[in-house]
Amino acid sequence: MELLKETIEQKGDVLSENILKVDTFLNHLIEPDLMDEIGKEFARFFRGTRITKVMTIESGGIAPAIMTAVHLHVPLLFAKKAEPSTMTHPLTCSVHSFTKNNDYSLCVEKEAIEPDDRVLFIDDFLANGEAFKGICSLISQAGAELSGVGICIEKAWQNGRQMIDKADIPYLCLASIQSMSPENGIVWSERT
Ligand code: 5GP
Repeated sequence: MELLKETIEQKGDVLSENILKVDTFLNHLIEPDLMDEIGKEFARFFRGTRITKVMTIESGGIAPAIMTAVHLHVPLLFAKKAEPSTMTHPLTCSVHSFTKNNDYSLCVEKEAIEPDDRVLFIDDFLANGEAFKGICSLISQAGAELSGVGICIEKAWQNGRQMIDKADIPYLCLASIQSMSPENGIVWSERT
């Protein structure tokens, strides 16, 4: 998606060969028109796959995921990183954080996913696929089906892409990075 790639080139900050900072349009300050275009793009791609629910993880995935849900006209469920005392029947799993290098637990209310749900997982980044594994676990605990994965920014050399290719699920990434460095910037991959 050219608009996302241009925004990354103009406003993204390559902190290292593995970390891209996108705090001025996606992860902290959020650019609503860009999120709307991202939502439209995912909705166009997944419209034929009979999605009944969009899922993401707080907080980085929420903006692109809610706009996707708006354009697909389905609810958004975001997995929480801390279990609130108000949650009555939590489904939980443990995830390793790529950026923080620690483990955290994810939880969703059991009643929020139905066994007949066809879930589209949307996230801001795909790195080693740990968040993807966690979401797969929650969906399978609910007896539902993962029917698609949409990623805004994929770092193609890390393990996540291979994991999703193996799972053979409809997949769209809007900006695939082949490599990056603070000195030389970003090299795009043509994969989607
Ligand atoms: P994974 O679970 O695939 O290893 O990593 C994906 C998660 O880690 C995303 O939900 C995102 O929050 C975070 N992440 C991974 N790589 C980056 C990155 O380069 N920049 C930022 N800002 N977040 C990242």
